[in-house]
Amino acid sequence: MKFDARTPGALHGSAASQNMGSGRQPILQKTLKTSIGCAGIGLHSGVRVSMKLYPAEPDTGIVFRRVDLVGGGAEIRATWANVTDSRMCTVLADQNGISVATVEHLMSAFCGLEIDNAIVEINGPEVPAMDGSAAPFAFLIECAGAVEQDAVRKALRITKSFSHATGDKMVALGSWAGGLRVDFTIDFRAAAIGRQSCSFMVERDVFKAEIARARTFGLLSDVTALREAGLARGGNLDNAIVVDGNRILNEEGLRHAHEFVHHKALDAIGDLYLSGHPIIGHFVGRCSSHADTATLMRKVLADPTGWELIDLYEDDTSLAAWAERDAMVAFG
Ligand SMILES: [Zn+2]
Repeated sequence: MKFDARTPGALHGSAASQNMGSGRQPILQKTLKTSIGCAGIGLHSGVRVSMKLYPAEPDTGIVFRRVDLVGGGAEIRATWANVTDSRMCTVLADQNGISVATVEHLMSAFCGLEIDNAIVEINGPEVPAMDGSAAPFAFLIECAGAVEQDAVRKALRITKSFSHATGDKMVALGSWAGGLRVDFTIDFRAAAIGRQSCSFMVERDVFKAEIARARTFGLLSDVTALREAGLARGGNLDNAIVVDGNRILNEEGLRHAHEFVHHKALDAIGDLYLSGHPIIGHFVGRCSSHADTATLMRKVLADPTGWELIDLYEDDTSLAAWAERDAMVAFG
């Protein structure tokens, strides 16, 4: 899906000088101030990889670049059009099948820390798992620092309600004023997880404090099956919470009481950022997976009457008008 048809006209003059005198301050796109790298093993492949994040030009978005021999320098844009697998994690690939797996935690950190443009160089098939959360990536991004660019930040504002359900699983995306709201509920038979819910307005401070540190998790009973399927080869107690019934096998226990459901919110935020822009809308996930979010987002992007690409401004009065409309919908 291309956004070009709805992309506001090309900028004339600097973004910062636009709308001078109108009192509307544009929110500018951001990239990294400098490059920064890390290394680790992939959760599913078990392959050791090095990864380096670089600044990128305005309107680049997030682009992965495989720099190993197998990838041959292939560039893969982090967009839904390039998602080829969503079963256990989110996998991006180019038209030649060169892929990068488990992009969602890094994408979540880019979204949470409001980085629009970056090149991610990687010398293997999967983003390193690090500790299983987005916190190490958020730390890297903060160490590199962010810099504003001479282009207005855009957002995908959802204007209709979309949903997708299979059995007990449900995902939905509707309109919401002024940002991205994420509500998530999980319900596991394993007593150590059980039923948990969370609700966030995804803002930088909330992301860092409540979401980024939540680690990925798995059931001990699933680990053997996953390994037989060639997945979770790099998974261990250093990069995932492992649950067996009412027991948490990690000696250190949980980072906070709702770590499981907060991780599901983290995943959803990363996947939603594959829209190429921050989303202004209300996402609801109930026992849903990467694949459900992928199906939902394909439905959304296939219906251009249900969203619009807008330029973002500080204290946007049009968003305030939408807040009123949302309130009327809620009570009407
Ligand atoms: Zn995850």
